[in-house]
Amino acid sequence: MFKKILIANRGEIALRIIQACKELGIQTVAVYSTADRDSLHVTYADEDVCIGPPPSKQSYLNISSIISAAEITGADAVHPGYGFLAENAHFAEVLAECKIGWIGPRPEVIRLMGDKAKARQTAKAAGVPVLPGSQEPLEDASQAALLAREVGYPVILKAAAGGGGRGMRIVHAEEDLAGQLSTAREEAEKAFGDGSVYLEKYLVEPRHIELQVFGDSHGRVVHLGERECSIQRRHQKLIEESPSPALTPELREEMGNAAVRLCEAVGYENAGTIEFLLDSDGRYYFMEMNTRIQVEHPVTEMVTGMDLVKMQIEVAVGRKLEIPNGLKPRGHAIECRVNAENPDTFAPSPGPLKTFHLPGGPGTRVDTHGYEDYVIPPYYDSLVAKLIVHDRTRDYAIARMRRALDFFVVEGIHTSIPLHKRILRDPDFVAGRLSTRFMERFQQREAREGDKDGGK
Ligand code: ADP
Repeated sequence: MFKKILIANRGEIALRIIQACKELGIQTVAVYSTADRDSLHVTYADEDVCIGPPPSKQSYLNISSIISAAEITGADAVHPGYGFLAENAHFAEVLAECKIGWIGPRPEVIRLMGDKAKARQTAKAAGVPVLPGSQEPLEDASQAALLAREVGYPVILKAAAGGGGRGMRIVHAEEDLAGQLSTAREEAEKAFGDGSVYLEKYLVEPRHIELQVFGDSHGRVVHLGERECSIQRRHQKLIEESPSPALTPELREEMGNAAVRLCEAVGYENAGTIEFLLDSDGRYYFMEMNTRIQVEHPVTEMVTGMDLVKMQIEVAVGRKLEIPNGLKPRGHAIECRVNAENPDTFAPSPGPLKTFHLPGGPGTRVDTHGYEDYVIPPYYDSLVAKLIVHDRTRDYAIARMRRALDFFVVEGIHTSIPLHKRILRDPDFVAGRLSTRFMERFQQREAREGDKDGGK
């Protein structure tokens, strides 16, 4: 087993990894930027190293500082968490050259699946359904127009190197295609340093369903069921749940097997997620793979009773996965992402947590790096806490989440808690009528009702 793990991350996920290491008897090293001196991941780690000033490029994305920190402290492996360097194949390669372990898949697999256009080809070759679209990055506007005509509008343009919902453009008609293509290219070039863009059919009202997969170094891959992440704003997830109200056991097995097939085809090791879109006729299509632990992994932990972060560490040292493929989910789990942001405009709301009272009680879990008087820095993403509940059925889980949200008191900054409270009372949410356009419709409904109330 590893003796000492360096956590190349911050926030709640750094703490989550420290918890797993402690339970496995592994020493921990935190790295932090000067903006994160007072962070809990620094407090709880056995050792800590400052790796630079606040901007991520100079700290959490600074490979040479992180490698130096690992060498100085004698860490024998790095856990990257999610975001930052988690899907950076080059970082994984440099670690290998330095004889430092990497808790994640092999670099060549990260690189292959990180190119969304190549990932699509790989999925297709493994017999996993993909949406009609381009096999290679688009060459020019006329080629794009031919292809779009073939698959039919609307189409979506996506950055091959994309992530975090950025660099996507929906095109409804041919006259907009050339303009949108050059905007998408510019955006992709600016955000990812790679202007390659591909095209696929845009589904108008799909569900986002993703499969948790795990591979060991002995060639075995299993899936651990799905998470439904259809509640999104600006293509970013807000609420996730498991199991999905839309899946029958048969469809779960079919999608799970497709996910496993794709992982087997690339020799996948460690935790990963295969994201699918599911249309209203029950047809599913591969969208992308994330080659790391996800923000929303706790809902899978709640319904499977497993600790995915400990499993990541164990398979990284060569342990065999001793679990059956496709475990039956137990009960229902929901996660609400509590972001430091204005719930109406979604503008970031950094600042001091004057009150920070966490809910507890049965089936209630909070993953957070927040504490009273902690000041949320403005430099990083806005996630302050993940509130996760588990209960026997979806209805019970919804009631539990409403209660937990009522008991979660944050003062000093704006958070998404008030928005979550309203979503958890929405008739469509309660009935499980979900799609990636849920939030759009929800906001329209609220605006109409607001107008009515205003007229009274
Ligand atoms: P990112 O990696 O930037 O998060 P994804 O490819 O995972 O991008 O897509 C994010 C979200 O965008 C999806 O969950 C879905 O809501 C929407 N989306 C992506 N592709 C399509 C598509 N072909 N049709 C409809 N919606 C899509």
